[in-house]
Amino acid sequence: MTEETQPIRVLRAALLVRGVVQGVGFRPFVYRLALEEGLAGFIGNDTDGVTIEVEGPVDRVEAFHARLRAEAPPLARIDSVVAREAAATEEKGFRIVVSEVLGRVNTGIPADAATCLECLHELLDPADRRYRYPFLNCTNCGPRFTITRRIPYDRPQTSMAQFKMCAACQAEYDDPLNRRFHAQPNACWECGPRVWLVGANGEAIAADDAVAGSIERLVAGQIVAIKGIGGFHLSVDAANNAAVMRLRERKRRYGKPLAVMVRDVEAARAICTLTETEEALLITSARPIVLARKKDGYGIAEGVAPGIPWLGVYLPYAPLQHLLFADPRVQALVMTSANLSEEPIAIDNDEAQSRLGAIADAFLMHDREILQRCDDSVMAVVDGAPQLIRRARGFVPLGVELPLDAPPLLAVGGHLKNVFALAQGRYIYQSQHLGDLENLTGLEFFRESLDHLMRTFEIEPETVVHDLHPGYLSTQWAGEWARERGLGLIAVQHHHAHVAGCMAEHGLEGPVIGLSLDGTGYGSDGRIWGGEVLICRMESFERFAHLEYVPMPGGEAAIREPWRMAMGHLHAAGFDVESSEMLSLLGASKQETRVLLRMMERGVNAPLTSSLGRLFDAAAAVVLGRRVVDYEAQAAIELEGLAVDEADEAGYAIEMLGGDWAAREPMKISVAPLWRELIEDLRAGVSKARIAGRFHAGVAAGFVRAAVLARSATGLSMVALSGGCMHNRRLARLLRDGLETEGFQVFQHRNVSPGDGGLSYGQVAVAAARIRGPIQ
Ligand SMILES: [Zn+2]
Ligand SMILES: [Zn+2]
Repeated sequence: MTEETQPIRVLRAALLVRGVVQGVGFRPFVYRLALEEGLAGFIGNDTDGVTIEVEGPVDRVEAFHARLRAEAPPLARIDSVVAREAAATEEKGFRIVVSEVLGRVNTGIPADAATCLECLHELLDPADRRYRYPFLNCTNCGPRFTITRRIPYDRPQTSMAQFKMCAACQAEYDDPLNRRFHAQPNACWECGPRVWLVGANGEAIAADDAVAGSIERLVAGQIVAIKGIGGFHLSVDAANNAAVMRLRERKRRYGKPLAVMVRDVEAARAICTLTETEEALLITSARPIVLARKKDGYGIAEGVAPGIPWLGVYLPYAPLQHLLFADPRVQALVMTSANLSEEPIAIDNDEAQSRLGAIADAFLMHDREILQRCDDSVMAVVDGAPQLIRRARGFVPLGVELPLDAPPLLAVGGHLKNVFALAQGRYIYQSQHLGDLENLTGLEFFRESLDHLMRTFEIEPETVVHDLHPGYLSTQWAGEWARERGLGLIAVQHHHAHVAGCMAEHGLEGPVIGLSLDGTGYGSDGRIWGGEVLICRMESFERFAHLEYVPMPGGEAAIREPWRMAMGHLHAAGFDVESSEMLSLLGASKQETRVLLRMMERGVNAPLTSSLGRLFDAAAAVVLGRRVVDYEAQAAIELEGLAVDEADEAGYAIEMLGGDWAAREPMKISVAPLWRELIEDLRAGVSKARIAGRFHAGVAAGFVRAAVLARSATGLSMVALSGGCMHNRRLARLLRDGLETEGFQVFQHRNVSPGDGGLSYGQVAVAAARIRGPIQ
């Protein structure tokens, strides 16, 4: 039968599309698709997503449906399409209905996205009306989250409200077939934001071209504060060591690695050895900083990332940055968040001037207000797959799915690297990385971001979730906030939250064996945990085994000074720490050693810890002679770096002591034999790289053994890996290898950080499961 003899069946279909479908060019895309398939109907916003009705021949409607997912614009994320048949109306043409959005919206605000290729082409095209315009964007790219005050995501609700579009821009904005149709930050030389250059003391610097003026200063080795998308960056020539050291001196940031921005993937390849996955990460629209392996003789100044084999590298994501790199003299720039240590990143012009006046030689300012502070995100390829280390620009405020229903919740996260989370239904919205919640500045940033996200997602929490640690600022704040508002309060143990986060990411209800390996977390017994083998359900856990407790002489001071931790471990392992051999190994004086010994013997200011992070610190202090660290986990990162080229070999011995699962008495994992073998190797002159390799292998084998014993006791064969130590690539790979060899099914974090940045996600999962009650 041919088509002519068969009457054409007409179908009208109503589709409800959920996901990230606003502010990403989704409506013009649907409009074009409907025109191409010759369909009538409309598209409009719904409280729950985007509603589409299409009417036409059945095969065309089906083609439309298929292409909707397959060809969706790059920034759109379709979570679900619910389709039903509707009564045909015989209407003609396709319309975009701009509707008032009422009630709760699930379409949210998209994340900020890097300049797209079409815009980049215009930026560098002398014939284009936006040639060298530092703020060009379209529906496929540009700022979103950081310029938005509240929903709906519409120009009057953004910091573009003050810029009235010129006729040319308005025409693009109104044309459904234009790439800039409803591109809220649309702008040009005529009507949009501008840049200018200012000196260190706020004096205006006359320059025809502020970008060119900035480039001259960078090339000359000066420090330029550059206003970006989520805040100011401090920038210097990454090849100029004197300039880099001056920046470190002024910023009072001594050891912590600095991120480097280069022109494109090819330039990144010239300084780092990149895997395919790493290259793919570099060019995603989120443009994260990617931790990649340095190349030998890579031409970057020694002071950028001293003592480690990795470099944080990333590519330009704003037109202004592309303009800097359009000058061939600009090859690689240090681009680091403009702040002092862990303070929030500066966003306001006056604020930047007053806070950074003593650091920067000049400021490249602009007049588009940043409404949400947002650092650069950081990712690494761990054990073959991408892992988020710092969740910020490009990822916020995209929701992460939760496998169970949550009532409206706020989880406040932890103490360091704070990220909070709001949840409702099956979605969790994590905040941007907020830094350490140690003081009022940090807490203010927390409040500011919370207000913004609560408005954005219209979530009014009914319950507040916090860490078990009574002393955390976040815990105290949570208690007060909940009392003021009459809300419920739930405390979640740190290492349980870590494992629950990993379980939730993979949709596991448990029970599973959870290896929660990290630096510091408050334990149920009031001690400092961190080397934990837990039997985890979503709502509860039991402790199967843990690293044997050792004292931390000096408490918090032992974190900043790993030699103290080394002394705690060596003393616990039975070494005479007053012997001349140990003194020289630790770089400690007799006097210092006596003081510490007294603390440990009397149990005064020497809290007990089962932390794996502290064990890494202690080993690094002994192997590398690192007495003091400049940033958290520095010693451990350097130890991993040392072992990076080592082939796998037998690890140092670890011993299991005691434990009675029937009586719920945890087993102790003793590292005393590890220390004896490690010191033997040092005495025998074994290379430090080999020692670091054997240390990693020993730790991994110890926890694999503990998991095997946990399986014998419980019959469980799924293992979830979590905690800040899972950022350690060597450890992550060794654990997965070892566990799989033993027949375990292994789960690792991917979309949520295994470190404290992911804590709030796990807190939400635990709280939601407790409110729901255990599954029978
Ligand atoms: Zn674009
Ligand atoms: Zn314009």
